[in-house]
Amino acid sequence: MQIALITVGDEILSGDTVNTNAAWLGKQLTERGVSVERVLVVPDRVADIARVVNESLADHDAVIVTGGLGPTHDDMTMEGVAAAVGVPVEENTDAVEWIEAHSDYSNADLVSGTTHLPKGSRMLPNEVGVAPGAEIEGIYVLPGVPEEMKAMFERVADEFDGGPHFREDVPADEPESALIDRFEELQERFDVKVGSYPGDHVRVTIEGTDEDEVQRAADWLRDRVERPE
Ligand code: ATP
Ligand code: MG
Repeated sequence: MQIALITVGDEILSGDTVNTNAAWLGKQLTERGVSVERVLVVPDRVADIARVVNESLADHDAVIVTGGLGPTHDDMTMEGVAAAVGVPVEENTDAVEWIEAHSDYSNADLVSGTTHLPKGSRMLPNEVGVAPGAEIEGIYVLPGVPEEMKAMFERVADEFDGGPHFREDVPADEPESALIDRFEELQERFDVKVGSYPGDHVRVTIEGTDEDEVQRAADWLRDRVERPE
């Protein structure tokens, strides 16, 4: 399963907010064996959101969009997603009922537009905040506020299943360039994906779909590198 993550928000582009939502989702999805192929950040503009969502859906099995929900003037995401699939935005009765049953708000108290979702969406309840999310045609629209986003993702997490995925990390106290031959041999011998991340020491990651194969590959490499103190 291949996914694109789209983050909406001028504040992410300007650097005022760090994109922890994409990092958190990337980790959750990868642990589920789902392949995150893209993280794209777009401004709070309907046309940009619509175009990027539409293009991303053409190339991926699903798209997750975060940020820009709700009824305020800079919340463009539902409009953008609706435009991407060619439907209008309209009041979603499930959203109205859920909010009336689960919060202190009545629909009359809510700012107009709060419960408006792309026509034909499945409403995703917001257990932490107010503005509901939505799923339509494999596009999942989640809030920007991290706690709201996480709670909503948990509700749909089982819909993201890429099969088994295992990872072992092997630290190596050698320059990355010195390890190249061993990486090549590792990939010839074992059916695994190898990553290499320099820092205080090099962190080598070994990933694959077969637990024993990943373990054997990690053991093979551990026996052949200098270990950090
Ligand atoms: P609301 O329903 O409250 O309007 P929202 O879904 O519209 O929420 P945004 O307005 O996009 O969310 O963002 C609200 C706040 O959530 C931001 O000010 C920021 O603090 C945080 N936030 C938004 N996007 C991200 C992100 N990608 N990573 C981390 N934090 C984020
Ligand atoms: Mg908002």
